[in-house]
Amino acid sequence: MSIDILAFGAHPDDVECAAAGVILKTIKNNGKVVIVDLTKGELGSFGDQHSRGKEALQASAMLGIIAREQLNLRDGNIENTHENRLKVIHLIRKYQPKIILANAVFDRHPDHKKAADLIREASFLSGLRKIETFEQGEMQLKWRAGAVYHYIQDYFIKPDVVVDITDFFTKKTEVIQAYDTQFVSASDSGAVGILNLLKQIESTNQIFGRAIGVQYAEGFTCERYIGAKDLLDLI
Ligand SMILES: [Zn+2]
Repeated sequence: MSIDILAFGAHPDDVECAAAGVILKTIKNNGKVVIVDLTKGELGSFGDQHSRGKEALQASAMLGIIAREQLNLRDGNIENTHENRLKVIHLIRKYQPKIILANAVFDRHPDHKKAADLIREASFLSGLRKIETFEQGEMQLKWRAGAVYHYIQDYFIKPDVVVDITDFFTKKTEVIQAYDTQFVSASDSGAVGILNLLKQIESTNQIFGRAIGVQYAEGFTCERYIGAKDLLDLI
């Protein structure tokens, strides 16, 4: 199997909050997307791992992704260990993505930075033939995605690349609201309440969009520089 985007999130809902627009746009253009949740988000202040699991399934259906994987790492204690890197490498080789999305390089929740480091390192190591992983008893082929982009979630980070999601912004807000116990049923006046969350996401997406003359955009950082076949492809 070869897909377009393999999107990792420390917790169910990270990918939706930060990159649902790009995912919806990719799928609209007949792209294939898979999401991987590193944890079940069992330490979340609202709901529990069962409700979050159900909500993630609903969000997946709304996005139109072809699969969602759960790595069952420990929420609040994501570690960049050899064992965890092998779990990530296994999924990269299984899906052979063109690009990988990962958590923000620093953020309010400490798991996000840890997830970013784990995924970025595993993404490189996945291209090394002598690191062996197996799928149903068969040794997997090495695979390195073309790029790893870190989405921008809670804290503001200056992006290296922004993508126009204007046509998908409304649907993105609907997908986020699938996480009922996390956001919708939480107090609307609280920091994690749905109204504040959607306002914050809208503001961020507007700031990123303004720079390229569109209404809404999502922003990403990339360790290497951005390449284009033609300068005129960039806006
Ligand atoms: Zn998170």
